[in-house]
Amino acid sequence: MKILPVLNNINPVSAKQKTQKAEQNVPAKTAYTLPYTGSFDFQNYFLPPKILAFTGSQKTPLTDEDYKKAEEYFKEVIKDKNQSFFPMGIKVFDSDKLNGLQKGIKIFDGLTMREIVFMLNKPIILLNRGCNNRCVHCGFSAAPFSNKTLDRMSYEDFKALIDGVKELENRMDNKVQLYSEMGLFLDSDCMEIEIKDKEGQVYDCVDCMRLLGDDIEKVTPLLDTSGWNFESAKHQAMAEKFVDFVLEHSPEDVDDINISINPYHGLYARAMELENEGKTEKAEELRQKYAKRVANVLFTFSPLIKNDFSVNILARAIPYDETDTGLDNRAYYSIVMRVLDELRIMFEKDLSGEKKYVQTKEELEGLMAYYDGLFEEFQPRNLFPWGRAQALFNHDIELIEGRIKDFQDMCTSMPQYASNLINPNGALVLSRMDVSAKTDLDFNFENKGRPVKPFATELDEILKPARTKEQLYDEF
Ligand code: SF4
Repeated sequence: MKILPVLNNINPVSAKQKTQKAEQNVPAKTAYTLPYTGSFDFQNYFLPPKILAFTGSQKTPLTDEDYKKAEEYFKEVIKDKNQSFFPMGIKVFDSDKLNGLQKGIKIFDGLTMREIVFMLNKPIILLNRGCNNRCVHCGFSAAPFSNKTLDRMSYEDFKALIDGVKELENRMDNKVQLYSEMGLFLDSDCMEIEIKDKEGQVYDCVDCMRLLGDDIEKVTPLLDTSGWNFESAKHQAMAEKFVDFVLEHSPEDVDDINISINPYHGLYARAMELENEGKTEKAEELRQKYAKRVANVLFTFSPLIKNDFSVNILARAIPYDETDTGLDNRAYYSIVMRVLDELRIMFEKDLSGEKKYVQTKEELEGLMAYYDGLFEEFQPRNLFPWGRAQALFNHDIELIEGRIKDFQDMCTSMPQYASNLINPNGALVLSRMDVSAKTDLDFNFENKGRPVKPFATELDEILKPARTKEQLYDEF
């Protein structure tokens, strides 16, 4: 899962969610004008059909004349600029006057330059929509992959988007950056990311980052993982490939590498269930399996530490007095102790055998001290109580109206705060992580229009009648 900011000052309330807004006397569809760079009017956004429709789309075919005029405008703006200005941000330009420059780039068919610029503002290109970790705290309620929806972007669509961006930048003499940051995942684990081409060739997370070429420093964050099955040769090889890939770069070019550690992972949460059923032995087996899984991540990533790259720990845990599930900060500390013990065993075995990760006792102690310090430094943090996580708290949570109001305010005053999520079918969803809105904008993907999973944070989803804790549990 992508890093989320911590929500402070959550006031637990006992009332049930007040969810349904008055739906009478509202237009069937509300159209909005896209901002140049300024504020974005969301005032009617929360009315049905809960989809953002944008005006100003250039639906007629662009002409050579449109292209020529856009090119002339571009040249006029940059003509007196000194080399030190380049590459410039796209927002320096009036995107309406650049309209036409995209002519003939298939992936942008049907979109105006203003829309393209808007969509490429800090986009999160969702290569995959799904996750097999089944964490019980998943704020996005990420579900395992299925055949019912388009859960994985096609290689051809991803490549066409990257190539389209590069072609457009090329038409601006590579003096302009169309995007400065690009994420590649949200409700998925990087170690599971796969896309396929028409011949069935599979591309993993590293392959997808390689497609970005020199733009790797613009990918943020670089990788998040909750670990992988350490007995899976395929996943272990993929993790080692990632380490080798990172080592080709310098630490300042590489953004976050995040390891998620918490009692909510499917394995550990299942252990707690078994414990409650009196199956102590099996529960202990699963707890140790989870600790080994995490220790193996730290072990595999240790060449990064030795080469001055930093690795972050995403530690999440609910304080023990706010949940009676046993999945709390005390469980987290117990996991940390187990992980450090397992990690020492792995390093010692390596030192007395292959010496792949540690060559000397001093090196081993140095790495252990580093990881020990990392856990000390990162205190467990509270969770966002949305999605499946709602079921973990003792108290009922009513945040819906507050979240919606915050989202409105945020989008009005700081539109850039909303992230642009690009679904595997090319459609844009605007998101503040806890609230999201579908739009009627989409890239011209081959898979355009195919159904994708809704986000648990989409307005339609969060406005559903309040579900009981049992129903929420049933979802994972
Ligand atoms: S299930 Fe877990 S690993 Fe997967 S996206 Fe959700 S929180 Fe992240």
